[in-house]
Amino acid sequence: MNLNDTTSAAVLEELRRRPADRRRILFTGATVVTMDPGLGVVDGADLLVSGDTITAVGRRLDAADAVVVDATGTILAPGFVDTHRHAWEAQLRRIMPNVDDLGGYVMATLAGYATVYRPQDMYIGTRLAALTAIDSGITTMLDFSHNSRTHQHSDAAVEALRDTGIRGVHASMGPHFGDWDRQWPGDLTRLKEQYFSSDHQLLTLRLATLATAEIAGPALAYGPELARVAQELGIGVSVDAVFGTASSDAVLRWAKDGILGPDVTLIHSTGLTPEAWRAMGESGTTVALAPTSDAQIGLETAIPAVDEALSVGIRPGLSIDVEVALASDMFTQMRALHAIQRMRAVNAAYGTDRQPSRITTHDVLDFATLQGARANGLADVTGSLTPGKKADLLVIRAEDLNNMPLNDPIGTIVLGSDARNISAVLINGEPRKWAGQVLDVDLAALRDEVHASREYVLNTPAV
Ligand SMILES: [Zn+2]
Repeated sequence: MNLNDTTSAAVLEELRRRPADRRRILFTGATVVTMDPGLGVVDGADLLVSGDTITAVGRRLDAADAVVVDATGTILAPGFVDTHRHAWEAQLRRIMPNVDDLGGYVMATLAGYATVYRPQDMYIGTRLAALTAIDSGITTMLDFSHNSRTHQHSDAAVEALRDTGIRGVHASMGPHFGDWDRQWPGDLTRLKEQYFSSDHQLLTLRLATLATAEIAGPALAYGPELARVAQELGIGVSVDAVFGTASSDAVLRWAKDGILGPDVTLIHSTGLTPEAWRAMGESGTTVALAPTSDAQIGLETAIPAVDEALSVGIRPGLSIDVEVALASDMFTQMRALHAIQRMRAVNAAYGTDRQPSRITTHDVLDFATLQGARANGLADVTGSLTPGKKADLLVIRAEDLNNMPLNDPIGTIVLGSDARNISAVLINGEPRKWAGQVLDVDLAALRDEVHASREYVLNTPAV
């Protein structure tokens, strides 16, 4: 059956009428930006989703029993992958838009608001962050959940991810300051059994930790002990606050201890020494840049370390970090990184006869999708529109007022688009945004919950 396009409520109704595991959806006539290095961009192409999986990309596909979605005038692209965000802070969004340094952020947030958070505040912040991520085309979000004060706080954060239908990576860490149950990292074993026991599910678990004892003491700092915990559980590790001399020394120690590698993601990685970068490159360690927090909050050199990463063969993922001071979406990260790197390259070559070495829009889109998936340990699952991968995809309207006429699809995604152009979002084959609206959200009820939680947090003295 052919039921016009993704703006149609009738198509959604038809999709939802069919059992998800046996349903087939055929998108036709789109510009498909696969981000698969072997497939590239295919014009005038169809894409077939069978159940939760992409099963074919090509011209004039035949799928007799599929719901046909006319995707003419749109770009199909893989969903964005956020490699690090502290989702529990979402009800404190933009509360400190002009914060000048890490210390200011840490004292207000981690030593202040965080200490009064209840499990329901964790739930509301995390759910709000995930729904906003979906709205702006982020289909995989690593929630660096570093306010796990009790096991109920962890449960609430995981359940919030689960309830939105996002491909969620719950990276769990104990809090920096205040009283807490000291259940972390021991409680990770229970969490894994309770929420992450199947290999065929949307949610995965990682260990979250800090680079050094500088911010919150030795209990949260990465080292052989925490590496063993992750190894025994068979989960990856995401390390935040990786910057400066102390982190560079730590990286060299980790290299010597053999606890770097593809399952370890180092976040920020600003102001590291060339020796540290070499150790990261040689061990195949992954990197999550946070272009706006590095630049805007001013972490160490304040320069997103993309050139440093590329020079040792690491293609980084991108991340949002903290909504208290920064934008929530991946378009901002891509555009910030694209502009900053090119500014830096041209500036370094200015007045010489050297050619600046500039990254491209294709590079930043690769970072925001496939490389993010790799950093989150999900490269086989998501990050590109490759047949066999899960159907995490975006339908982007390429002929909207701000995008017409479509001349270069990757340029249109990276430089032209924003959340308003995302007509539909599928995660694991399931529509989560349709006709420009996030599905299954009572916005008025959500707003009430967010406001109530925000009032409680702001009006309760820190402990
Ligand atoms: Zn962070």
